[in-house]
Amino acid sequence: MVCTSVSCVWIIFCLHLCFYVNTGIAQNTREVILLDSKAQQTELEWISSPPSGWEEISGLDENYTPIRTYQVCQVMEPNQNNWLRTNWIEKGDAQRIFVELKFTLRDCNSLPGVVGSCKETFNLYYQETDVEVGRNIRESQYVKIDTIAADESFTQGDLGERKMKLNTEVRIIGPLSRRGFYLAFQDVGACIALVSVKVYYKKCWSIIENLATFPDTVTGSEFSSLVEVEGTCVNDAEEEADNSPKMHCSAEGEWLVPIGKCICKAGFHQKGDACEPCGRGFYKSSSQDLQCSRCPAHSYNDREGSWRCDCEDGYYRALSDPPSVSCTRPPSAPQNLLYNINHTTVSLEWTPPADTGGRNDVTYRIICRRCTWEPEECFPCGSNVGYSPQQSGLTDTYVTITDLLAHANYTFEVEAVNGVSDLSRTQRLFAAVSIATSQAAPSQVSEVIKERVQQHSVQLSWQEPDQPNGVITEYEIKYYEKDQKDRIYSTVKSKSTSATVNNLKPSTAYVFQIRAFTAAGYGIFGPRLEVTTKEESTGSGEQKTTVISSEQNPVIIIAVVAVAGTIILVFMVFGFIIGRRHCGYSKADQEGDEELYFQFKFPGTKTYIDPETYEDPNRAVHQFAKELDASCIKIERVIGAGEFGEVCSGRLKLPGKRDVSVAIKTLKVGYTEKQRRDFLCEASIMGQFDHPNVVHLEGVVTRGKPVMIVIEYMENGSLDAFLRKHDGQFTVIQLVGMLRGIAAGMRYLSDMGYVHRDLAARNILVNSNLVCKVSDFGLSRVIDDDPEAVYTTTGGKIPVRWTAMEAIQYRKFTSASDVWSYGIVMWEVMSYGERPYWDMSNQDVIKAIEEGYRLPAPMDCPPGLHQLMLDCWQKDRADRPKFDQIVGILDKMIRNPNTLKTPMGTCLRPISPLLDQNTPDFTSFRLVSEWLEAIKMERYMDNFTAAGYSSLESVARMTIEDVMSLGISLVGHQKKIMSSIQTMRAQMLHLHGTGVQV
Ligand code: AMP
Repeated sequence: MVCTSVSCVWIIFCLHLCFYVNTGIAQNTREVILLDSKAQQTELEWISSPPSGWEEISGLDENYTPIRTYQVCQVMEPNQNNWLRTNWIEKGDAQRIFVELKFTLRDCNSLPGVVGSCKETFNLYYQETDVEVGRNIRESQYVKIDTIAADESFTQGDLGERKMKLNTEVRIIGPLSRRGFYLAFQDVGACIALVSVKVYYKKCWSIIENLATFPDTVTGSEFSSLVEVEGTCVNDAEEEADNSPKMHCSAEGEWLVPIGKCICKAGFHQKGDACEPCGRGFYKSSSQDLQCSRCPAHSYNDREGSWRCDCEDGYYRALSDPPSVSCTRPPSAPQNLLYNINHTTVSLEWTPPADTGGRNDVTYRIICRRCTWEPEECFPCGSNVGYSPQQSGLTDTYVTITDLLAHANYTFEVEAVNGVSDLSRTQRLFAAVSIATSQAAPSQVSEVIKERVQQHSVQLSWQEPDQPNGVITEYEIKYYEKDQKDRIYSTVKSKSTSATVNNLKPSTAYVFQIRAFTAAGYGIFGPRLEVTTKEESTGSGEQKTTVISSEQNPVIIIAVVAVAGTIILVFMVFGFIIGRRHCGYSKADQEGDEELYFQFKFPGTKTYIDPETYEDPNRAVHQFAKELDASCIKIERVIGAGEFGEVCSGRLKLPGKRDVSVAIKTLKVGYTEKQRRDFLCEASIMGQFDHPNVVHLEGVVTRGKPVMIVIEYMENGSLDAFLRKHDGQFTVIQLVGMLRGIAAGMRYLSDMGYVHRDLAARNILVNSNLVCKVSDFGLSRVIDDDPEAVYTTTGGKIPVRWTAMEAIQYRKFTSASDVWSYGIVMWEVMSYGERPYWDMSNQDVIKAIEEGYRLPAPMDCPPGLHQLMLDCWQKDRADRPKFDQIVGILDKMIRNPNTLKTPMGTCLRPISPLLDQNTPDFTSFRLVSEWLEAIKMERYMDNFTAAGYSSLESVARMTIEDVMSLGISLVGHQKKIMSSIQTMRAQMLHLHGTGVQV
């Protein structure tokens, strides 16, 4: 079609101008174009009805690109109804359709001669159909969208000034339900040029957001509707737990409100909108981690996209270890394993392994094996053994193993384990000790049978305990009335496995328990046995007495009133007064009770307090010693003589307590005040101590006459005399056991800061169980009192043979000088009470010591023990062992009896002129009797004579068999004689350079 009418000319002209002004509506990327008239180069061929109405006219846009437009301008004639219909438009996915119209409209006023019929609007319609319909336009089938008016119309004058504007109007239709539609423009008499028609809908275009892909999405049908869209994770990404990715497509084609996200899988990390594999030597263990990390220590990987790294050889990762931690290995063995044996209980202590394997979950486990002696075979200890706190999973570096068998050999392995120990196939590393248990108290008496029940007596019998652990010397039967409130109990002792308990009340329920006693002490009480005595019958011959029948031998009744005991304890602690008229002790009325309270409260922190620091010595005594009522003490006989008076034995019976054997030191009549003070000083010192190897003070009597110090009774008296009496009768283990006790007592005293100054076998007391206790305490008095003490050039009396050089020379008395004395006590014990340095003068002893002389090993003394003595006699006191160490060394020897073995005849005094220079010179003796006297064996003179040994030469040739054939049965004496014979031989060799043929 060609532009023919007048009106046509101005419109085309105008078009060109308009595009200059109204460019710049950029293509919106969210739009999907269904129709764009401008884009069509060829004729549009829309239907115009009537054909005289809308006219298709070609023109040029601003770029001189040809465009197709429709124009109508029937303004001169009234009743215009000109329709223009587009071609059929397929809607596709669209629900809401946008129609953008660009047009120009002529102002009616600017047209000369148009009256009434000129319009300045047109109408926009649409018709939905599923398919194209015919070319006829049936107005009734169209739905009106809107009446479109120009925002700006133009006039003739505008044309002249080139100020005409293109109008753009957008209308939205929808929701649409058919496959397509037509648009129609109704002109009712306006002058319009339809420059372009664009039909489009909006879409949210595919996008990757938070590692999720969202597909192209058509907007919703309503203006306000949001379309929810699920995202799909990009490759190697996964949805975050409970947070799947979603977005919302708005009506405007914009993605809004992102929810949830995807994250890169393990082994991958995010780069832009994708997930890339971790490189070699890197890993990412979880999708939650953001970055790949370098392989931790002792691990590697040689592939990409790894979620973990593999451990190097010998390194492991525990199941619970996250891949981020270093690979680790089992720990090395625990170090410094120490042990301690207490009868059948073993304590082990160690320090952590040098290498924890790189972990901090090291625990320890104990493997216990019991071993037979010969052949040595070891078996697991089984479940009877107790472990405290436990056998495995120990976090602390100690354990106590209980319920071991007595006198048995055990091996304990302490293994350090960590979280990867069980994964490792390498050899187990552990620290081990082999231990022999020692004596133990007997096990429980578990089976008790009531043999005969009478009105006043019950006869019981029982089985020996399963594990007597020694020779049972006694059983103790404890019993009490079941219903008695105060639960006063009594005990009866029996040497056999049966006993009759007499003096019971008729028709009364009693509870019995029995325990066994060996040299190792009491076992624990067995289970309770309840027995009710028979009813009293009037004709009964049984007598009701309060004394146990004399058939029970030995029989002791001990009544302990538990309630009273508790009260006494309370009174002790709080220092209340117990009436002096009672047989008991009173001390709370003395000054300084708060200190007493303090000492009870903190027994572990006690240090020795020198009584001389008290201005009033009486106060010191009452600070540390109980005041006893003289009526509680029964003196029985004199057992010795002390400096201040007699020493007696007797009994002490305190209320509510069983009576006990005591030694009573008395202060002779006519004493001076100083003597009284010095006498009681010993009690002030002894009262401060509480240790099983330190003699125990029961109390003092200062308020009556005689003044007394009451001490626990030590049946075997002083150690030196006791050993001399039992020369050669003990095993080395027994002797070392005594030494261990003395060392433990001295360790306690030195820990308290007390220096004894007069430690010697004569000042050790021995009880009936061979327990040795340190005694004889005092200050200068003790030494004054000691017959061994002599005045030295430095002033004061000193027991030279027992005293360290520095103490003799400049009175430097310390725990180290006590250690020297202890070495001498060791020598005394191992030689059964021999006098140190024999009959050398004190002056010669001092000289010899200064020259480096030391006592040789006593006969049959294990070399280790003599070495310990020599260590105690180190010149430099700092080089001497501490009592603590001595106890440890002796414990070790007791545990390993092999170390104490001395092959017969080999542990003799070394044949060193220095060491032996003060041994009696047997070569100077002429007669066998002289020699026997020198070695205190003169009692065997007749045996030697009868066997024809008349000369020392013949004696020097004797063998142990010869000595035994003389009829000398005591092993100790055989050894002593044999040892002396060997020394004699050595001296002869030394003197004459000739040996003696044996
Ligand atoms: P003392 O004055 O402490 O040396 O005692 C003199 C003697 O009495 C000692 O040699 C012992 O024989 C004896 N003796 C001292 N205390 C006790 C005691 N607690 N038990 C037995 N006997 C003792």
